[in-house]
Amino acid sequence: MTAMSPRRGGAPLSRAVMWRLAGTSALRHLERLGWNPVRHPDLRSGRMGRMSEIDGIGTERATCWLAPNPSAMTLDGTNTWVIGEPGAEEVVVVDPGPKDGVHLKRVVDGIAAQGRRVGLVILTHGHPDHSAGAARFSELAAAAAAGTSGGSRAGGVPVRALDPRHRLGDEGLAEGDVITTGGLELRVMETPGHSNDSLTFWLPADRAVLTGDTVLGYGTTVLEGKLGDYLGSLDRLRKFSEDVEAATILPGHGPKLDDPIGALDYYIGHRRERLAQVEDAVAAGARTAKEVVARVYSDVDKSLWPAAEWSVKAQLEYLNERS
Ligand SMILES: [Zn+2]
Repeated sequence: MTAMSPRRGGAPLSRAVMWRLAGTSALRHLERLGWNPVRHPDLRSGRMGRMSEIDGIGTERATCWLAPNPSAMTLDGTNTWVIGEPGAEEVVVVDPGPKDGVHLKRVVDGIAAQGRRVGLVILTHGHPDHSAGAARFSELAAAAAAGTSGGSRAGGVPVRALDPRHRLGDEGLAEGDVITTGGLELRVMETPGHSNDSLTFWLPADRAVLTGDTVLGYGTTVLEGKLGDYLGSLDRLRKFSEDVEAATILPGHGPKLDDPIGALDYYIGHRRERLAQVEDAVAAGARTAKEVVARVYSDVDKSLWPAAEWSVKAQLEYLNERS
């Protein structure tokens, strides 16, 4: 299904969502609405709502619990990753997802049904489609653990994130941290660009890279942070994936990618190509982001232009800083 491909005009839902997008001027507004503009108009292909293809996917240690929040911005929905060592009682949950009671309870109950409990929640970044449910999830998980073990954890299960605003408990999360909950080994890398607080987690036992919204299962990502940071993060992830021989990318949205280097090369190539087009448009006389979009995205449905404009603004800023 390629209904979301902008070159084919877009599906009714994505069109509807993008129209609402077109009516707003800022990312912040979208975030207040609980949306996250992860989707970039340069989608190579797109689908959504194919829950069966994503829910339950993963690796030996990581399993995806797909949140029911599909949209043009969140693709099939947010991927909540539950990660545990085989046989371990404690698991780590990456990105509880939006504040959707049914989803949060499904994940907590699913973990309890396996005779396990949540030892820790970590966030790839603070966008609401990943983090808004974290506090509620933490309470539910603590209650479930109290129910099974007879003990109670005051204040809920800890939530660790780079941005202090999204933490519960005393511990943050930053470059070089190693998470060892339940006997796991999860290594933390700071990969800013999609957002300033974006983290990537490396699960060496499964050779899996959890990229949040830095790399998605399909399409490319919209940037809230700086393009220079993002390009640096992509280069770093590519080199890292090669060095450690990563086997799979477990993204924040969309299916897993079993060719990490190929996926990263596509992302890097795509960004460089667009950047060159923006440079050409400026050289040809385009002065504003709008004018650049009209040239570079002339073959893309106009409903996607507002999102394209954000990207172009980031590109112009990057080119200005570089010159
Ligand atoms: Zn995001």
